[in-house]
Amino acid sequence: MFVDNDVKLGFSDVLIRPKRSNLKSRSQVDLVRTFKFLHSKREWTGVPVISANMDTTGTFEVAEVLAKHAMLTAVHKHYSPVQWDEFLEGKDEVIYSHIMVSTGSSEADFEKLTTIMKNHPKLHFICIDVANGYAESFVEFVRRVRDSFEDKTIIAGNVVTGEMVEELLLAGADVVKVGIGPGSVCTTRVKAGVGYPQLSAVIECADAAHGLGGRIISDGGCTCPGDIAKAFGGGADFVMLGGMLAGHDESGGQIVERNGQQFKLFYGMSSTTAMDKHSGGVASYRASEGKTVEVPYRGPIEETVRDILGGVRSACTYVGAASLKELTKRTTFIRVQEQENRIFG
Ligand code: 5GP
Repeated sequence: MFVDNDVKLGFSDVLIRPKRSNLKSRSQVDLVRTFKFLHSKREWTGVPVISANMDTTGTFEVAEVLAKHAMLTAVHKHYSPVQWDEFLEGKDEVIYSHIMVSTGSSEADFEKLTTIMKNHPKLHFICIDVANGYAESFVEFVRRVRDSFEDKTIIAGNVVTGEMVEELLLAGADVVKVGIGPGSVCTTRVKAGVGYPQLSAVIECADAAHGLGGRIISDGGCTCPGDIAKAFGGGADFVMLGGMLAGHDESGGQIVERNGQQFKLFYGMSSTTAMDKHSGGVASYRASEGKTVEVPYRGPIEETVRDILGGVRSACTYVGAASLKELTKRTTFIRVQEQENRIFG
């Protein structure tokens, strides 16, 4: 039995050490990045924060707001081709470069993806998302999507180790999505005992991806803007958020009222709630690997977006990074045993 004794770190195990800086204000920080993707050869410019492809956060309504901030939305895979047609009708170019079409890896998923992409050739991004990106059949699927959509930017995941990042990039992915188990409504670590602390996964996977000219998304586990800054500091090119964007007007999920306070339902995509909704219940051979929670209703998403972008800007200012691109180079993590003062809860 081999035990890897290297300590693996999550966001809450570290802080970013401040560095001398000549920036006067966070307004001087540029969060926009430009990437040229490995296989699609497309260039993309924007703020690399993505709303997760969950049916509560990857909605068309969220996409419209986030696109105004040059951010991305991985639109969930449960919209029909007709709903895509209706949403995109009359939309300008900006929206096309800020949305991703999500898909699973079944035959039916492939057909639906093909229909949507054919109907809307201006769409750039395809996000192939499965809970476990380690299956050989998944790698084959990525290869098939690459062969069918040569000039589209393909995201594939999720994995947490460098060798699998390399395999997915070689199979045709431009960007690999990293994260197993860190999600706010994920129970994989409890149900299956499988996972990898997210910050270490990001550091190791970024190294592997960048060596081949690929990119990574840190997916899951961010609880506050500081965690997003740590993910970027660790080398993530993009950061994907679920729970932090839940509970807003634009998010999906039913509103519930309790003792005069409003909540919105938020649930994992493999929770019993999601499976009842989309697949007619949890199949007998599998366990639900997601929670269902009630998030206090938070109003329009706009304010949360500002808070997030403000936090990342602030991190950049503290280490003297005039642009997000410089944040990784200027980040030194310190391992800590306390994060914040909790006297007031
Ligand atoms: P969060 O930002 O809420 O911490 O994490 C969002 C991520 O959690 C999603 O992008 C996705 O990768 C993951 N996720 C969403 N639903 C589920 C689920 O039901 N089970 C598991 N294991 N992960 C989930």
